[in-house]
Amino acid sequence: MSSDRDAAAHCIFCKIAEGEIPAKKLYEDEEILGFHDIAPWAPVHFLLIPKRHIPSMAQITPADAALMGRIMTLAPKLALENGCQPYPDGGYRIVINTGKHGGQEVEHLHIHVIGGPRPWKHG
Ligand code: AMP
Repeated sequence: MSSDRDAAAHCIFCKIAEGEIPAKKLYEDEEILGFHDIAPWAPVHFLLIPKRHIPSMAQITPADAALMGRIMTLAPKLALENGCQPYPDGGYRIVINTGKHGGQEVEHLHIHVIGGPRPWKHG
């Protein structure tokens, strides 16, 4: 749909995925990108996104099950590799804000991974 293409053309996370806007990347494969949040809430705060423009969890379908499974499987591994401490004394928060009521500001699906020693700036 052209509206999807228009949205993707103006999407900041699509531009990061395409290398048009710089980001501090921590993971990349053919369909997923991980990068540090520009305004971290905690000592560790990174985002995982599908490279393909999916606006939010509201657009996820059964066809995305493998992609979402891969993202959720990567999150704990990347959390430990990027400074989160092991469960149960350490741990992290995994958040997916969805829509206006969910506090979503960037309309490209992203998974927040937030952790490290407290206190945190937020949350
Ligand atoms: P949300 O409120 O769930 O949509 O979160 C969007 C997140 O994207 C916020 O935590 C922002 O700090 C982060 N963010 C926005 N622009 C960038 C960027 N250029 N690079 C890295 N993180 C960003």
